[in-house]
Amino acid sequence: MQSTSPAVEQRLQATKEHLTRTAISSSPEASWIHPYLRHSVHPVKGRQLQVSQTIKKGELLLVDIPYAAIPTVDEPLRSENVLCSNSRCNRKAPLTAERVSCPNNCIADVVWCNEDCHRMDQPRHTIECAWLKKFAASIRSKWGEYDFGMLWLIVRILTTRTVGMRDTQRACPPRDDQGAEFKAGWAAIESLCGSPESWPHDKVRHWTALVKKYLKDNMPLAHGMAMSDVLALICREEANSFGLYPRETGTSVSEPQMVRGEQFGAAVYPRAAIANHSCDPNIKHKPDIYGRMVFVASRDIPQGEECCISYFDLSQCVDLKDRRAHLQSSFRFVCGCLRCTAEEPPSEDVLWDAFPLLEE
Ligand SMILES: [Zn+2]
Ligand SMILES: [Zn+2]
Ligand SMILES: [Zn+2]
Repeated sequence: MQSTSPAVEQRLQATKEHLTRTAISSSPEASWIHPYLRHSVHPVKGRQLQVSQTIKKGELLLVDIPYAAIPTVDEPLRSENVLCSNSRCNRKAPLTAERVSCPNNCIADVVWCNEDCHRMDQPRHTIECAWLKKFAASIRSKWGEYDFGMLWLIVRILTTRTVGMRDTQRACPPRDDQGAEFKAGWAAIESLCGSPESWPHDKVRHWTALVKKYLKDNMPLAHGMAMSDVLALICREEANSFGLYPRETGTSVSEPQMVRGEQFGAAVYPRAAIANHSCDPNIKHKPDIYGRMVFVASRDIPQGEECCISYFDLSQCVDLKDRRAHLQSSFRFVCGCLRCTAEEPPSEDVLWDAFPLLEE
């Protein structure tokens, strides 16, 4: 008998409430993990998310607060899409009289919703502010926005770690079953995948130069980490950070495809980062108003199935060749998901293409 149990209905209702909630009074500091969501280690693919029981289409699976986030908008002074710098807020700071810019004029991209957010973020931003004043302009002009954004996100991770905002208070209650506890805070960041060996030499050499020039263990950062550990952190951040877009990423292939819109931020999420990629994902993801990453099942997910997201906008990269080229250049792997495998040309076709003369 196919019936929806009250428990499922309650869970779907919880999803709906979360997704439609806009009140600021709800608690933005909490992550939420579905009781059936597990992480495990696959012998080939490494870490992955799975469900221990069947999940219904539309169920909320994960709401994860960022460990660190940065805004990535043009013209921040006029934009409605700049994220509040308070790492406990991460909302888009409304363009009102309440919005606060940095009194030290570090960069225009640093804003807070109001004086409360500014005050709360003071201990962390003071360190970041000195770094931005010293390096932001020269990094931007010498290396461009991409490297600046990457380094700034690393500095946000390092300053959050230094101030110790997350580590003690954000741990999810441990689970006693299957050892499926999700790490939180800095411990989770340290266990993300990605190492210098997984990146091309020229990239690693470039990042090493940036670390030596801008991320040394002295003032203002004084992070207390070895250069090699900071380099390893960049390798993990580059493999795991999320772009923040206004609309969902990973709409199921059978649904009408919607462009996800213009990127307004980038963030690192301790648990959401565990999800692997599929070109036919069973999860769609989107940031909520607090910059938390929200995972929702886009179809029924049977017990034991891996939960995957799409790492890119599937409506923009459609053909197998385009998808593979994009994943290879941006994420360093050849996608072997079920959709890619099914779309691979039969091996004879490859041969005929390679030896056109044989067709004559
Ligand atoms: Zn705020
Ligand atoms: Zn500042
Ligand atoms: Zn694929």
